[in-house]
Amino acid sequence: MKVFELLAKARLEKRAILAVNVSNMETIAATLEVANKVKYPIIVQVSPIQIEAQKLSYKLFVDLVHCLAAHYPCDYIIHLDHATTFEECKNAVDAGFDSVMYDGSKLTYEENVISTSKVVDYAHSRNVAVEAELGRVGGEEGTYSTNQNAYLTSLDEVIDFCSKVNIDSLAVAIGNAHGFYGNEPKLNFVRLKEISEHTDLPLVLHGGSGISDADFKKAISYGISKINVFTELDSAFVKGFVSKFNEDRKVYMMFAQRCGRDEMSRVMFEKMQVCR
Ligand SMILES: [Zn+2]
Repeated sequence: MKVFELLAKARLEKRAILAVNVSNMETIAATLEVANKVKYPIIVQVSPIQIEAQKLSYKLFVDLVHCLAAHYPCDYIIHLDHATTFEECKNAVDAGFDSVMYDGSKLTYEENVISTSKVVDYAHSRNVAVEAELGRVGGEEGTYSTNQNAYLTSLDEVIDFCSKVNIDSLAVAIGNAHGFYGNEPKLNFVRLKEISEHTDLPLVLHGGSGISDADFKKAISYGISKINVFTELDSAFVKGFVSKFNEDRKVYMMFAQRCGRDEMSRVMFEKMQVCR
């Protein structure tokens, strides 16, 4: 599987691949354009919440990415972020995604093992990779919650889970959270180091928005090889769009949208420099 090879190589080389949540033509094009410019691989990802909110389908998303990638040639992976049901994963696999994340973090540990295994069986039979989550990353994906209702990934669970479920990457909870951070995030590097010493799997950091460049670099040196950024890039787009509108209340959509896209691209470019 291409994504597993890409992430495993990144982990060995102490680099990370940026995973950007996108859900319309402008954000997909912006992401591929930056990857093309930087000449560095990118993970283009979308969550079921985004697919629904933007009136997309799994197949339409895949078609959109491939279509735009023909115009911005780069090394890209199409990934489903935070699926919480087998059906969502199956829909993505059937539509041509390269990789899916099954998020069983709200289940009991035993249920997470069983449900993730079922997704792995289906996905692997079709050459699609699976990312799992242990512990619970705080905040709620797509809700801008600052509620950091998290618990750290347990080392014992990592060891047991990896012996039972043949996953391709693992999302860890080490004090990271989705949405905007209420206070400055404090990542637990001791726990991250322990986890990385017990598994060679590429590790995934969710909630990358608001984490400092220095902490990104430290996390990458301890085995993080995929970094998810949603809120900070989404917010950059909205800010660019709104500031143009505030500047000229009669602005045409194409000009406001262009400002949003440029702002998102600018922030993404900076994040990508830290990952490489
Ligand atoms: Zn996440």
